[in-house]
Amino acid sequence: MTIVEMLKDKEHIEERVYEALEKAQKSQKDLNAVVTFIDPKEQLEHLDEVKGGLLEGVPVILKDNVSTKGIKTTASSKILENYVPVYDATIVKKMRDAGAIFIAKSSMDELAMGGTNLTAATGPVRNPHNLECMSGGSSGGSAALVAAGVVPMAIGSDTGDSIRKPASYCGVVGLKPTYGRISRYGIIPYSSSLDHVGCFTRSVKDAAIALEVLAGRDDFDMTSSFEPVEHYIDAVKGDVAGKKVAVLKNVIDAIDNEATMQCFNDVLDGLRTKGAVVEVVEMNEALLKALLPAYYLIANCEATANHSNLDGIRFGNRKDAESSEEIMIKSRTEGFGPLIRKRFVIGSYGLFVENQEKLFRQAQRVRRLIVEEVNRVLSEYDVFVAPASVSGAPKLDDASRDQLSDTYLVAENHMILGNFTGYPSITVPMGLSDGMPVGICLTGSAFKEGELLNIAQAVEDVTGLCDMKVGD
Ligand code: GLN
Repeated sequence: MTIVEMLKDKEHIEERVYEALEKAQKSQKDLNAVVTFIDPKEQLEHLDEVKGGLLEGVPVILKDNVSTKGIKTTASSKILENYVPVYDATIVKKMRDAGAIFIAKSSMDELAMGGTNLTAATGPVRNPHNLECMSGGSSGGSAALVAAGVVPMAIGSDTGDSIRKPASYCGVVGLKPTYGRISRYGIIPYSSSLDHVGCFTRSVKDAAIALEVLAGRDDFDMTSSFEPVEHYIDAVKGDVAGKKVAVLKNVIDAIDNEATMQCFNDVLDGLRTKGAVVEVVEMNEALLKALLPAYYLIANCEATANHSNLDGIRFGNRKDAESSEEIMIKSRTEGFGPLIRKRFVIGSYGLFVENQEKLFRQAQRVRRLIVEEVNRVLSEYDVFVAPASVSGAPKLDDASRDQLSDTYLVAENHMILGNFTGYPSITVPMGLSDGMPVGICLTGSAFKEGELLNIAQAVEDVTGLCDMKVGD
């Protein structure tokens, strides 16, 4: 069920919320997507105060890196397993004021670092379309719960593709708006220059509703923008006549999966039929291949700095030891998983005084070149598009990927373009590849979310995959 449908029936809010909670609880055995359940009773008692809100009575799930006052917020890391924030993130207030009812906090890759959701402290999240497959990450719990029809909306965060990749794997819409469009106050950070908050929904129209609630300036977040918030719901018309769509040649050249390309080409044909001008455009290949290494440096360096306070003394579970130095070492060694520890080593190395210039700063310069390359394309096109994943969700135990192949380097990592630039980017389901969902990713210009959602709606109209059911 979509938000739009729910808003038509305000007679049965309470039943619907408890139904969603029960469904979430029942799904736990299969999906393992929830870290903490939230009792909706008190929230329902205050519903009268938010009558007419854009999310009135809509059950919503939050990624577990969103701070919730009095409710455990672990970011799926052992070091934060007992952390209970004393304040709410700004987006929590905004959604509550719009009438949303929170029913759970969802699993994620530890501290949002990862793309599989296999690294969560509570174990892997499974894909509702096939329980042997991964949900993708890092916002995998949110993606899986929206895909399973538990809730029509869930919050995610996206530093490299962590909303848009799991959206592709789970067959839902995943929106990452412009940097600064949604407040990050109260979100446990990963990489401050790349982190974005966004959402999963079951249709493009619902994404527009969600964004209208979430967007806007927040004095508590100095990176949040003063740019006025559009009326996104009105912008979603699916009218693409004369719109210019660039297809990323480098990405499609690197994809050898016929079923994925068939879905993708069918969407492009549909857009052409609706009057869009669809052209294949090449980006500088060397720059695209530099995306992942530059990303890893910037993201891991920033993460290392951001998480230096998770030391068992200032924040995080404390492991007792003789000296404060030993407390820190023990708390961090036992509190973080192996992948996180590896990333902190990379991050620290890039931040050593003697390495900063040739690693961290160099990666920032490469990022600038990549942003200029994207600007070149967007100066002539409304959006650029590419498949959001090469194939459907991999099996949980699939470790067979060659991470240095073109397929992986270019075709699995191009969505970082949206984080390097900060431009709005959305994944929309485009069909099934070998029985599993795959999405198309569209990226537009800064603060043109209305236009992006309008074109995304045309994609949804072409595929007919609004409110996609498991087994569709
Ligand atoms: N998979 C990427 C990483 O591991 C992206 C994560 C994200 O967007 N949070 O960093």
